Amino acid sequence: MEKIVLPEIKDLHILDVYIKNGGFEAAKKAFSQSTDDIIDQVKKSGLRGRGGAAFSAGLKWSFMPKATDKPKYLCINGDESEPGSFKDRQVFEFNPHQLIEGTLITCYAIGAKTAYIYIRGEYHKWIKLMQKALDDEYAAGFIGEKMKEKFGTEFYCDIYIHKGAGAYICGEESSLMNSLEGKRGYPRVKPPFPAQNGLWGCPTTINNVETIANVPPIISKGWEWFSKIGEPKHPGTLLFGISGHVNKPGVYELPTGTLLTDLIYNYAGGVPGNKKILCVIPGGSSMPPLRGDQIEGVKMDAESLKAAGSAIGTGGVMVMDEDTDLVKVLARIAHFYHHESCGQCTPCREGTGWLEKILKRILAGKGSSNDLDLLITVANQIEGNTICALGEAAAWPVKFMVDRFRDYFEQRVGKEINLPVANKVHSMRHTATPLAEIKN
Ligand code: SF4
Repeated sequence: MEKIVLPEIKDLHILDVYIKNGGFEAAKKAFSQSTDDIIDQVKKSGLRGRGGAAFSAGLKWSFMPKATDKPKYLCINGDESEPGSFKDRQVFEFNPHQLIEGTLITCYAIGAKTAYIYIRGEYHKWIKLMQKALDDEYAAGFIGEKMKEKFGTEFYCDIYIHKGAGAYICGEESSLMNSLEGKRGYPRVKPPFPAQNGLWGCPTTINNVETIANVPPIISKGWEWFSKIGEPKHPGTLLFGISGHVNKPGVYELPTGTLLTDLIYNYAGGVPGNKKILCVIPGGSSMPPLRGDQIEGVKMDAESLKAAGSAIGTGGVMVMDEDTDLVKVLARIAHFYHHESCGQCTPCREGTGWLEKILKRILAGKGSSNDLDLLITVANQIEGNTICALGEAAAWPVKFMVDRFRDYFEQRVGKEINLPVANKVHSMRHTATPLAEIKN
């Protein structure tokens, strides 16, 4: 099985090993071609963003204006704060130079001379590892002004690591830019989009870590090669981070279109105790959950998951067995989004609070069937009425879980549960197996 982003090569994080295995051949090739050619190849490859929206990477690059006297910027989004998502840190740790090479090629293609790699503040270990990789490349002349000599080109660029300060909302692209500018991490109203008005009012492209790490192999092996891997409408591989009730949680790089059941049973070793699966959230905690009896035949790519009633998101698959208390799960998720709401828009600020309040009432045994309808009504009033996608991130799990598990929730209204929900939520952001502790 072909690995594009995390090839199984020992010590690939060491610069010399990366170079011996073909490192920087793609950059050399790219710098000898026109920027339009590079954008065209990435467009034709079908590479789609790996950060949640699955938007065409080449098309996004093409939005950058050519005729401008303003500086252009590239931001690599490594904030990775979605509960259930922990795949970008594998790139930081095991293949940082491919990410940097992808950054150089992307800067060249869009005409940026400065790139920022924005890394989640809690990722202390991975920030250090990335900084070491960056320092080694600067010393060897692969980044900065020395690039001119190294690659024999007029083009050069600088790359900086920026550490986040722990806010989930800074993973949203416009809020990430505010954070980089030293402002409070408030999402901006769009339009204007970053390509027109991004960092410091200048044209900016923002891509996820995994997306950029795919770029060097596309340039060196060709867009035709990439476009034939996995599903034609969403080609390549994905880094699936699987957690919860599986025997072997972890990150698995597999072609798009891999069956969800294959991922759970063949790669992640199945469910402990051979229990039945009650629920799966396939793309990180903000995506619509699927019932265990809905997952047979579901493929892991953007189009197939959309058809199945969910979304690929960040590829963070959360598996819950038949003993999981879904009311507790939903209450924890609701608390998380309420806590992380920046408070700018009323539907999100107030609505996320109401979702949490109602779920806590159900947990306390004081809920009724009306509360289930109320949860869906509040979620519907948040969805589509906010500045950024945190609104949907908070609304979708509640709306779809209550709707798809209505029979389950109906049985739970009026039943008392003893759980200090608020105290446990934070641990969910820091563990690869966050669901293990919330079983009955
Ligand atoms: Fe802030 Fe929520 Fe509005 Fe996003 S949707 S801008 S997080 S209040």
